[in-house]
Amino acid sequence: MAVKGEPGALRILGSEAATCTRCPLAAGRTQVVFGVGDPEADLLFVGEGPGREEDLAGEPFVGRSGKLLDRLMAEEIGLERAGCYIANVVKCRPPANRDPRPEEIEACRPYLERQVEIIDPLVVVTLGNFATRLLLGTTEGIRRLRGRAYPFGRGRLVPTYHPAAALRSGGEVLAEMRADFVRAKQLLAEGSRP
Ligand code: URA
Repeated sequence: MAVKGEPGALRILGSEAATCTRCPLAAGRTQVVFGVGDPEADLLFVGEGPGREEDLAGEPFVGRSGKLLDRLMAEEIGLERAGCYIANVVKCRPPANRDPRPEEIEACRPYLERQVEIIDPLVVVTLGNFATRLLLGTTEGIRRLRGRAYPFGRGRLVPTYHPAAALRSGGEVLAEMRADFVRAKQLLAEGSRP
């Protein structure tokens, strides 16, 4: 088991992922979008997969969804992205931004699991159905799952919508996302492991 946030461990994993060919998404990527942030962060966000802008930049959530994520993080948690870690379920861009396929998620899963193990966060916020279902091991939808925290590893998991859903629907979805971020902030402040 790695020491929490051991930067070396995350760096080694990242360079291993950079040349990954475990699934067909490798063929269409510009680069692997491994993750960004503080390896010792208490807070980990997990999204779905890189889009066009992320594929070009090599960093998760740099497009419109990312701008909203940054805003909610700042307004509701008081954090900048350097104060957390951001990763995705799949590390390579699905063509035309389609949903990642089950076999792609399965192939990429060991990278995310190892990221969680190394970062050892107090709170994981899953953004949308793909991250939430994978990490909670359920087929239930985000609408039913959100609104509470779940035990997860040595910490807790707070499911919320993907920022793209809030950009699409606004109003109620955005308000619920804000409430979920506040829940994450409270758990961070409590600081206790379950
Ligand atoms: N959507 C995601 O789920 N992840 C990203 O990195 C960008 C958009």
